[in-house]
Amino acid sequence: MTRKIPMVDLSAQTDALWPELEKAVHDVLRSGRFILGPNVEAFEREAAEFLGTRYAVGVGSGTDALVLGLRALGVGPGDEVIVPSFTFFATAEAVSLVGATPVFADIEPTTFCLEPESVAKAIGLRTRAIIPVHLFGHPAEMDEIQSLAQSRGLAVLEDAAQGFGAAYRGRKIGGLGNAAAFSFFPSKNLGAFGEAGLIATNDAAVADAVKCLRAHGSRERYVHTEIGYNARLDEIQAALLRVKLPHVAKWNVERRRVAAAYDASLSGVEGVTVPRVAPGCTHVFHQYTLRVPPAKRAALQKALEAAGIASQIYYPIPNHALPMYAKTAPQLPETDAAAREVLSLPIYPELSDADVADTAKRLLAALR
Ligand SMILES: *Cc1c(COP(=O)(O)O)cnc(C)c1O
Repeated sequence: MTRKIPMVDLSAQTDALWPELEKAVHDVLRSGRFILGPNVEAFEREAAEFLGTRYAVGVGSGTDALVLGLRALGVGPGDEVIVPSFTFFATAEAVSLVGATPVFADIEPTTFCLEPESVAKAIGLRTRAIIPVHLFGHPAEMDEIQSLAQSRGLAVLEDAAQGFGAAYRGRKIGGLGNAAAFSFFPSKNLGAFGEAGLIATNDAAVADAVKCLRAHGSRERYVHTEIGYNARLDEIQAALLRVKLPHVAKWNVERRRVAAAYDASLSGVEGVTVPRVAPGCTHVFHQYTLRVPPAKRAALQKALEAAGIASQIYYPIPNHALPMYAKTAPQLPETDAAAREVLSLPIYPELSDADVADTAKRLLAALR
């Protein structure tokens, strides 16, 4: 047995697009324009068109997108921002980085996304914004979150880092709140070849504020109007992303094929819960995440590993249990349960149905 199935395999995409990727980098090197050149501008236009938003602004990473998005929405010291605890650390970290306080809300157990009633309970006098995370590529319950936000005068920043191309009730995520943060970390659905991110918005003032913040708080060279960041999207990364962008819709379809193949083998199995797709949602399966009996999880991982099959726990420690947040953390029973039970299996567009079936078969054998 030499075959290995990693969590993600980027080589097939890179190989298939190699001549175009090589030319894209070559052309940037020859052009001598490395910062905010024609590729960043074109990628911003093309990404906005794909997402159906009026504006898209390239930044250095998904974390930059969250930080600059919060700043552009006016969030700062003294403010509270409601976030899920069950997410990658950067969601809460960005809130802390702008001097505000993350307030953790619980999740809906079948989609792993923010549960609107828990959000409502977390709203207080200092609450300024909500960050719904489209976790694992599943859209958060945006209608309820938006109506909560509107009735309480709060801003909504989507953390769309895992959901490029996902849709909620017929509309792509990214234009559902006041702004959205995307990440092009290499392993994301649309991945760069290094760090990269994007803020999407329909609000001209937000787009303008982000453009200013990403370039040291200046709109005009050497005229700095506020303390900003060096958080620009690289021209080389933009050129590479432009090669991949036309393929992402098709790749998302392939991810759904892989998920359906897992579902076919694993749904209805005692002790296993396959990921639910809420009505009206188009999931892009950045991750395919099961719930399994906590007492068996380590053994399942071991059995897969013995067969050369990777698996991962996203996320083993919820943010509210981390040392910088634990002291003031609320009780989040659904988040704690998810952290104990989740198990993510390999998923990428090129994963074959046969490999999926084999992975499922080994998982089932280890469950018995
Ligand atoms: C990846 C990720 C981020 C951060 O993106 P980077 O590009 O790595 O900075 C933020 N939030 C979520 C949910 C993510 O998965």
